[in-house]
Amino acid sequence: KRQKKSIAGQLRDRLPEDILGILTLAGKLADEDGFEVFAVGGFVRDILLRQPNFDIDLVAEGDGIAFAYKLAGVLGGRVKAHHKFKTAVIILPNGQRIDVATARLEYYEYPAALPVVELSSIKMDLYRRDFTINALAVHLNPGRFGLLEDFFGAQRDIKDKIIRVLHSLSFVEDPTRILRAIRFEQRFEFRIGGQTERLIRNAVQMTFFQKLSGTRIFHELRLIFDERNALRCLRRMDSFALLTHIHPNLTLDDKLIKYLEELESVRNWYRLLYEEPAAQSWIVYLLGLCGHLPPEELVQIAGNLGFTERQRHDFLALRERTGQALGKLINWSQSGEPLSGLYFILHELPVEGVLLLMAKSTRDQVKKAISVYLTRLRHIKLEIGGADLRIIGLEPGPAYGRILREVLAARIDGKAECRGDQLALAESLAGHIPDIKTKKPQNTATPPS
Ligand code: ATP
Repeated sequence: KRQKKSIAGQLRDRLPEDILGILTLAGKLADEDGFEVFAVGGFVRDILLRQPNFDIDLVAEGDGIAFAYKLAGVLGGRVKAHHKFKTAVIILPNGQRIDVATARLEYYEYPAALPVVELSSIKMDLYRRDFTINALAVHLNPGRFGLLEDFFGAQRDIKDKIIRVLHSLSFVEDPTRILRAIRFEQRFEFRIGGQTERLIRNAVQMTFFQKLSGTRIFHELRLIFDERNALRCLRRMDSFALLTHIHPNLTLDDKLIKYLEELESVRNWYRLLYEEPAAQSWIVYLLGLCGHLPPEELVQIAGNLGFTERQRHDFLALRERTGQALGKLINWSQSGEPLSGLYFILHELPVEGVLLLMAKSTRDQVKKAISVYLTRLRHIKLEIGGADLRIIGLEPGPAYGRILREVLAARIDGKAECRGDQLALAESLAGHIPDIKTKKPQNTATPPS
């Protein structure tokens, strides 16, 4: 029997103290109850790849739910159990999540003449997974802590940088794995293996992918759009003729690719500045891909991808509003108006729309101005408000909005930086508005005589 490799050293070197503590505790508790527990999946893959990933995924060769309660009890977390699937999620007070699954023993009928194949239940569990690199398990029980279970050659595939399925029916069983293969390939700069690539082409040709529900495709697409290099995934999808499942007319030509490159660098720039989910990447990319199509085709896309009513509304409305804003933006950039003009154009849009316009702008000067809007202008607040207008004796009414808007414009253009200047400007503006009386607030409760 082959020697199992230990990655105990890598676990100790590459994991934060608290995560390592959780793994050690899990092994100890399982051992007390006489079963094996493993860390599995992307968590193990990412340790070998030296990628940060602190989403702990455990599989117990015992009652996973009971185990989750025990572990959560010691760690002070709460448990959400799914009895139907014998899985649970532990949520710790600091927000850390631990997924726990039960390695299901399943009995397969074999022809009587064949010898019974003995499979450990962890092996059965790993065999259902998508790719070899995601099908690693590491022992956590004391004495075996850190020993790697690699039934399918994952270590070799990681070394050779290959995405490979575990068996030839994998994409038939679950065609969403086609998009997952592309996503992992592009994320890690791996290559989908030759046989696996043939299986993908087959599955596409045999219309397995086409039979997926729009909702499932959309779920995987969203994960792709969240990748740093989503565009490379889209190009790979195009090479498998998969973009047509978003919409039949969708292909990537040079012009669209150039725009999407710009969009990706704008999105990644924004993501570096602000924590996710500050902007929803799916709507940015889908409008980047399809924004040029006529509205009725966008309605079709919303249907093809099984959008919820809300998603459909956001998608169509954003397309409409960025279209209008683009016209105003062009006028603004040609008119030599100050930054406040840009502010009022962009302020009406959600940040996703602003990112689309920033990518669309071919003039560096306009792009720069939009970046100033995103990083600075949109956060500007006036030092005065409605209450101040009342104190200086203005009648409350629609003019308040107009005055404050003008003061804000001046503030953005650097003309009324402090509170005193803003108050003075508000007063002088009030003097120029004919329908507003400047008078001391008075008691209106007395009935007319
Ligand atoms: P990511 O870094 O994107 O979160 P991950 O590998 O952790 O990647 P998850 O989607 O969280 O991905 O899935 C966890 C594990 O479950 C995977 O590592 C894989 O083993 C398994 N898995 C997920 N989706 C599938 C699927 N469609 N078919 C088979 N196995 C899957």
